[in-house]
Amino acid sequence: MIKFKTRKCFLLQVIACFCLCMSTVAQQRTKNVIMISMDGYRWRELFAGADSLLLASRKYNSQDSAWRYAKYWAPTPAARREKLMPFVWQTIARKGQLYGNRQLDNKVDFRNTFWFSYPGRAEVLTGYSDPAINSNSYPDNPNENILEFVNKQKGYAGKVATFASWDVVARIVNRNRNGMLVNIYGEDVKDENLTALQQAANSMQRFLPDFFGRGERLDGNTYLLAKSYLLAKKPRVMYIDLADTDVFGHDGKYDFFLDAAHYADAMIADLWAYLQQDSFYKDQTTILIYPDHGRGEDKQWVSHGGQVAHAGESYLLVMGPDTTPTGEQQSPGQLFMDQCAQTVARLLGFMFKPVHPVGNAISTVLK
Ligand SMILES: [Zn+2]
Repeated sequence: MIKFKTRKCFLLQVIACFCLCMSTVAQQRTKNVIMISMDGYRWRELFAGADSLLLASRKYNSQDSAWRYAKYWAPTPAARREKLMPFVWQTIARKGQLYGNRQLDNKVDFRNTFWFSYPGRAEVLTGYSDPAINSNSYPDNPNENILEFVNKQKGYAGKVATFASWDVVARIVNRNRNGMLVNIYGEDVKDENLTALQQAANSMQRFLPDFFGRGERLDGNTYLLAKSYLLAKKPRVMYIDLADTDVFGHDGKYDFFLDAAHYADAMIADLWAYLQQDSFYKDQTTILIYPDHGRGEDKQWVSHGGQVAHAGESYLLVMGPDTTPTGEQQSPGQLFMDQCAQTVARLLGFMFKPVHPVGNAISTVLK
């Protein structure tokens, strides 16, 4: 009898150990993370496609109406959203998770109440909504961010890189403090052995018109700089910061705003296709996609900020080996953007413990 009990105990221990190992393994399949920010892109277009009134407006569009309708119109929201972002709805919706469709009462919000760029990006990257960060002119971000935290971990030093369309991102990530590669508007990637693709991506910056004026380059250029770096250097963590959607939004150009989202979707599709055919990244890379703030509704769609209703509304898309493919979240829920930083840490098997408060990891992403 005693013998039987001992054997049973041993067996239970083995089973418990096995389960524990399995859960550890399950949460450690992610070895690489790519974070993609889409500046001021609304959950409305993401989950419902082109807005019928805005697409019809003469004021807010400059492209030929037959052309823009051919590209983005369909009779149902489900068909419209897939036309606008085919990779999101054909691949991420099947293999990943999508949070933030408020029509299903599934909500993602910013904690900060400013609802513009520097505070939004800072909240995501540091896991903290710092009330002192209240301006896009804010100097170097004093708070530790998840990128520099990971860069300090074993095996990750020099393997974390940022590519941004907007120059302010250098201050938000505080490259002066951490010395990480943060490539922004107007800057070439420098290296003794640049590949031909990297050289072409660098020079493209001098072949395109300064469409947005000073401080911001087109996302297509930023993406090529990022991808050519990824191919050449195999970073473990990459932050790609896209900005076209917000600039076209402020300009009141709805057709270009939709184009920017459509092309961002194409860039993410291109990136994912590459990741899946490179053994360094395949099945061990998680991508996260989200905005830095929302925008207003109706006439206020061009704007955002603390005075603009709905501009604090967000969303989060995640796809990777540790994330159960539950697709579009259908039940009521509430997440906050200050949870992204710890979620990234946990996906990589770390616990982010900065001196400032930090939002909890999103448990459903990790299961
Ligand atoms: Zn913004």
